[in-house]
This record gives sequence, structure tokens and C-alpha cells, in this order.
Amino acid sequence: MIKTKNLHKSFGDLDVLKGIDLDVETGEVVVLIGVSGSGKSTLLRCLNFLEMPNEGEIIIDGRQVDLKKDDLSNVRAEVGMVFQHFNLFPHKTVLENITEAPIIVKKMKKERAEKEARVILEKVGLSDKADVYPGKLSGGQKQRVAIARALAMEPKALLFDEPTSALDPELVGEVLQVMQDLANEGMTMVVVTHEMKFAKEVADRIVMLDEGCIIENTDPHTFFNHSTNERTRQFLEMVD
Ligand code: ADP
Ligand code: MG
Repeated sequence: MIKTKNLHKSFGDLDVLKGIDLDVETGEVVVLIGVSGSGKSTLLRCLNFLEMPNEGEIIIDGRQVDLKKDDLSNVRAEVGMVFQHFNLFPHKTVLENITEAPIIVKKMKKERAEKEARVILEKVGLSDKADVYPGKLSGGQKQRVAIARALAMEPKALLFDEPTSALDPELVGEVLQVMQDLANEGMTMVVVTHEMKFAKEVADRIVMLDEGCIIENTDPHTFFNHSTNERTRQFLEMVD
């Protein structure tokens, strides 16, 4: 579903991604980990073309994205993104937040967009919040709205960048539960997270970035129990 070949990204003199080859199968959940500054967010942002790679290829659902010719808003509609800080529109209701992109980008009729949004809201457990403004919601509820908003575009894959890092500990579980439900339904997902329990239980594969390179790419059991990589051992001691 998502493939990169020799992906490079630098900011000025700083080489952040140094030739990333990543392959995410349809329905697969890949958890992306690594210390702060290792390039996790930059990689996700490249997959969604919020950052333009300097070199390499990105193939989405079998089609190589052409930065010069393709309409990137269409590509972004195929690969949704959920951010650490929700990024909801504060002056729009929950329902308006969710229906905005389907109406504007997908040219969906308002009635249909609202009907579908209500179905998705039910899925994330927020049916009663449709007409509320984000300011009235808890962090966990805001993040579930952000997930609903991404789902409303019917993406082929979803990217999560530390979706629970900004939440109070007691609100983390409700967001992870929604993500686990999506995984169980077969959604293709790339998740940057420090929640190792989620990684162990939900990930099909763990990819570890270190200084812009993939240093581990393996199943969770092997990663957590049998890694011989020194950097991995250090990382696991740090997050435990
Ligand atoms: P991570 O998400 O793993 O913490 P990032 O991808 O955010 O890492 O950042 C990797 C490196 O790239 C860091 O050194 C960061 O300061 C740098 N970086 C990220 N975005 C930018 C940017 N827009 N301009 C300049 N440097 C950036
Ligand atoms: Mg980051």
C-alpha cells in the first residue's frame, strides 16, 4: 500500500532521512519508533507530502507519486494523518470539522457528508458530540474527532504521529482503543508512538529509525525479545 525507495530528506545541511526503504502491506500495522530527532515525523510527513523528499520514490497503492504532475491534495486524501496536537478547527463544530474535507476536496453533498460523519462519530464513540465545539472536549475526545475527520476521507492508509503524547495518562486508553479497532478492521496504519504495550499487542511490524536510517524492521516478538542491536537495547531501556 505504501512503499518508499531510497527516500532522502534534508533541511539545509541537515540530512534527516538517509535512504529509507519502507514497505507497508495492505492491512498491515507498522509501529515506527526511535529517539527524538531520529526522523520519525519527517518520514510520516513525506509519506503524506507535507514535506517534499529530496530524492527517492514514494509509491502509494501501486502508483508512483509524481511531485510535479500529481495533485497532492488527492494523494493526501488517500493517506490520512493524525497529529499529536489534533489540529481541529476551533470555530467549527465537531460535525463541521469532519465534513469540511469531504465537502471541499471530494465535492461531497453536505447531507451525505453529514450522514457519513455521524456513522463515523458513532464508531469513535462520540455520537453525542456532533454539534459541540472542540474547546468543550477533553484531549482524548479531540483526538478521536481528529481520527474521525481522517476517516471521513475514506483513506487507503492512516498515519499517526504520536497521537497520545499530548494526552493526560487517563485519556490515552480511549484513543489507543479506537486505533486498535481500526487495526482489527484491516486499516493500513503507520503509527509513531512510545506506547510499547500498543506496539507489542497491535503492531504487525516494528520499524526503528536511528539518525535517519532504518536499523530494525521486524516482528514485535523478535524486536522486544531478541534484538541484539545496541541502539535498540538502549531505546528499550529508556522507554520501559
Ligand atoms: P522525530 O519525529 O523522530 O523526533 P523529526 O523528524 O521531527 O524527528 O526531526 C528530525 C530532525 O530534523 C531534527 O533534528 C529536527 O530538528 C529536524 N527538522 C525537522 N523538521 C525540520 C524543519 N522543518 N526544518 C529544519 N529542521 C527540521
Ligand atoms: Mg516527531
